[in-house]
Amino acid sequence: MKIAVYPGSFDPITLGHINVIERASAMVDQLIVGVLNNQAKSPLFNAEERVEMIREATAHLTNVVAVPFDGLTIDFARRSGAQWIIRGLRAVTDFEYELQMAQTNRVLAPEIDTIFFTTELKYAYLSSSTVKEVARFGGDIDSFLTPVVKERTLAKLKERQK
Ligand code: ADP
Repeated sequence: MKIAVYPGSFDPITLGHINVIERASAMVDQLIVGVLNNQAKSPLFNAEERVEMIREATAHLTNVVAVPFDGLTIDFARRSGAQWIIRGLRAVTDFEYELQMAQTNRVLAPEIDTIFFTTELKYAYLSSSTVKEVARFGGDIDSFLTPVVKERTLAKLKERQK
């Protein structure tokens, strides 16, 4: 069985992430989206909320599941029985970090490979942090998120501002 994991923060999941998920899931039997439970990053949504939004946003893809995880990506990949780690590349700025991570992971787990999907041009600028920044200042985030994720993001920001 071909299994891949797609790890990330997904705080929250954007249309750019969904595009990578759609393309990666077409290549494998199962794609496991792993939500990194990293308190150090002080996320807007907790891991369970992020997992829930990914499940809703990928409900049309029958071979995609979303789960939270802690610790090293390679341990998560091994536990999941995955042969591949999926990552997305938006710009040259992503490249240096991603290359270093992929090479480190390759040393730690030679049996697991990293596969990169280059972003769809229309999502090249898109990141969860930009979306949160735009939303925080009342900008329109319709073209970045699914309607459900958009509503949850606006509600969460409102709750935080109180
Ligand atoms: P992290 O916090 O680990 O960077 P993210 O949740 O932001 O994780 O992203 C997870 C992965 O998805 C990363 O490999 C990132 O480069 C990729 N990604 C994020 N946004 C996009 C996008 N708009 N197009 C393609 N890949 C993306």
